[in-house]
Amino acid sequence: MQTVFVSTWADPGGPCVREAWESYQQKSDLLSACEDGLIEVEMDPKFMAIGLGGFPNAEGEQELDAGMMDGRSLRAGAVCALRGIVPAISVARHVMDTPHVMLAGDQAARFAESRGFERRTLQTRESLARYEAWLKDKTAAEVAHLATHDTVTIVGREESGHVVAACSTSGLAWKLPGRVGDSPIMGGGYYADDDAGAAGATGVGEDIWRFMLSFRAVENMRDGMNAEEACDAAVKVMVDRKPETREQISVVFAVTIHGDWGAAASKDGFTAWTCIDGLVESHAIRGAAAKGY
Ligand code: ASP
Repeated sequence: MQTVFVSTWADPGGPCVREAWESYQQKSDLLSACEDGLIEVEMDPKFMAIGLGGFPNAEGEQELDAGMMDGRSLRAGAVCALRGIVPAISVARHVMDTPHVMLAGDQAARFAESRGFERRTLQTRESLARYEAWLKDKTAAEVAHLATHDTVTIVGREESGHVVAACSTSGLAWKLPGRVGDSPIMGGGYYADDDAGAAGATGVGEDIWRFMLSFRAVENMRDGMNAEEACDAAVKVMVDRKPETREQISVVFAVTIHGDWGAAASKDGFTAWTCIDGLVESHAIRGAAAKGY
C-alpha cells in the first residue's frame, strides 16, 4: 500500500523526500524519484555537504562521491572523487547503464562530459569563506571536521515492494585529496535488494565502510528483522566492536520491502525525514546508549 521515502539530516532531508515524492507522482519511477530528490539538494548551494558549494577537501576543491542501487536488478552505479561536475548522483545513474559499478576521479569527469555534463566550478562564496577560515585556524576546525558533514542519502520503496537506495556527498570537510568515503560504496553508504529492503548511511565514512552498515542492515532484514531492528543490530555490532564509534555520529536507516522503516545511530543528534504516501515528517533518532545498547 505504501510509497515510502526516507532521507537524512534536519535541513536537507525534508526537501529531498518532498522532491522525490513529487517526481514519483510525475514519473512513477523509483530510481528517478530518488535521483531527483538528491538533485534538488545537490544543486542548492545552501546545503553545504553535497554538490554545488559542498565542503572542499584540504586543497580547497570539492570532490564528490555518489552512488545508487536498484533493488530489482541489483545494478548499481557510483562515482568517487568527482571534480567539477554536478549533479554527481546523475553521473552515478549513467554509470549504472554501463557494465561497471564505479568510475573515479578525472576519468569519471571525462565520462560525465561524454554524457553531456559540463565542467563548472563547485565553489561558492560561502564554501570559499569556510575553507579560508579553516586555513587560518586549522586546529580548531580540525577538531570540528568530523562533525562537518551532512551527506544526503535516500531510500525509497513503492507499493509493489520494489526498493532503491541512493546517496550523494562532498564527504568529510577538509579531507585529504583523493579520500573516498562510504557514500559511493555499495554496501557501505547504500544497498538495495527487492528480496529484503533498502538501507543507507551517513556519518563517519571510515566506520560505516568498516562495518558495511547498509549491507548489514539489508542482510538483517533478509533474516526477518523489521527495519528498526535491522538498523539497531547493525549499529550494535559497530559500537560493541569499536566503542570509540560512539563518540562521532554514524547512522544507518532502512525500509523493508513491506514498507516499515527504521533508523539507528551511534549517538544522539540525527534527524530522519520520511514521506509516506505524501505525508512528510521529521523524526529525532535516539542514539545507541539512549536505546540501551
Ligand atoms: N559518510 C560521509 C563520508 O564519510 C559523510 C557524511 O555522511 O556526511 O564521506
